[in-house]
Amino acid sequence: MTISSFNPPIRTLMGPGPSDVHPRILSAMARPTIGHLDPQFVVMMDEIKQLLQYVFQTKNELTIPVSAPGSAGMETCFVNLIEPGEKVVVCQNGAFGGRMKENVERVGASPIMVEDEWGKAIDLNKVEDALKANPDASVLAFVHAETSTGVQSDAKALCELARKYDCLTIVDAVTSLTGTPLKVDEWGIDAIYSGTQKCMSCTPGLSPVSFSDKAVERIKSRKQKVQSWFLDLNLVMGYWGAGAKRAYHHTAPINPLYALHEALVMVQDEGLENAWVRHDQNHHVLRAGLEAMGLRFLVNEADRLPQLNAVLIPKGIDEAAVRARLLNQYNLEIGAGLGSLAGKVWRIGLMGYASNVNNILLCLTALEATLTDMGYSCDSGAAAQAVNAKLREQNRISA
Ligand SMILES: *Cc1c(COP(=O)(O)O)cnc(C)c1O
Repeated sequence: MTISSFNPPIRTLMGPGPSDVHPRILSAMARPTIGHLDPQFVVMMDEIKQLLQYVFQTKNELTIPVSAPGSAGMETCFVNLIEPGEKVVVCQNGAFGGRMKENVERVGASPIMVEDEWGKAIDLNKVEDALKANPDASVLAFVHAETSTGVQSDAKALCELARKYDCLTIVDAVTSLTGTPLKVDEWGIDAIYSGTQKCMSCTPGLSPVSFSDKAVERIKSRKQKVQSWFLDLNLVMGYWGAGAKRAYHHTAPINPLYALHEALVMVQDEGLENAWVRHDQNHHVLRAGLEAMGLRFLVNEADRLPQLNAVLIPKGIDEAAVRARLLNQYNLEIGAGLGSLAGKVWRIGLMGYASNVNNILLCLTALEATLTDMGYSCDSGAAAQAVNAKLREQNRISA
């Protein structure tokens, strides 16, 4: 049997990630491969580090992309910062906090769990109680933007608490980076990891990370070797570190790094603050349309993530059938609920390049047609009207 080339359908990606990749980024990826120690490649690596410092809002020297997806960035933080026998306070209010717990256990450390209901922000009082009760804890770990629920927690306040109780912080910013305000230095974050395929609209497979001087000190003064050879930052620093003398560690994913470079240049050209504003405004446009159709959000207004909208499924609607119809008829992908929210919510992403008014209109129109066919009743055309009114209110269209 002869297998032919794979030609994927053209979809609109409005799920929890990946998001639509900008054509500029796709074409950057198709540029000629050069050697990973080529002097010109090394220049590009340095530019990536500089641009990552900008999007993370940090001067941290150890700011690099790990050559693997967000989950590997997560693991990089845990295996490097934590030694066996330590105690780590882990906040869990969704799926990704659960993975942090797994990481702590696999490092041979003990997780102290602070749990909140899925769909709620992390409760600062509970975290403080846990830190007080465990004065020997070395690290506080939490998810800034819980993609499984659409909740944003107060990263700044959580970092303040960690400092008060002499803990370093590990922060999951996979979905927050470039989508919502995030200030590594100002907030005093010690270790942070993200992904390329969410609000930067790059291809999946790389994980930007950044470590404070305090975190680097701790990594350099470990008693035991990091148990992962590939993710050991003591070794990776020789490859991505400052200066021209680079030692071979692994072959960098050359073309995906071209893509990341282009994605970061695009954020720089738009302006980080402008990207935050765009995500926020488009969230309000989508919200106006959904509410005009009678749909409601899972999360309290104050804790909602603009880039990930968890929408409650109306009674009597077969949610999987809706998603299948959106995909098959409209080439539109939205996400299902995870864990305890399976069957209860849809997750509509407005991330990066996908966060635009055309996509919002497509999503609302497709949802309205599909839901109406399935017996849901709403005012036909009300969503589009609401979008129009919101855009006018935001001064994005003239009267
Ligand atoms: C997507 C995501 C991850 C995992 O990233 P991968 O690139 O899929 O490994 C981790 N944390 C959060 C909050 C995410 O949204």
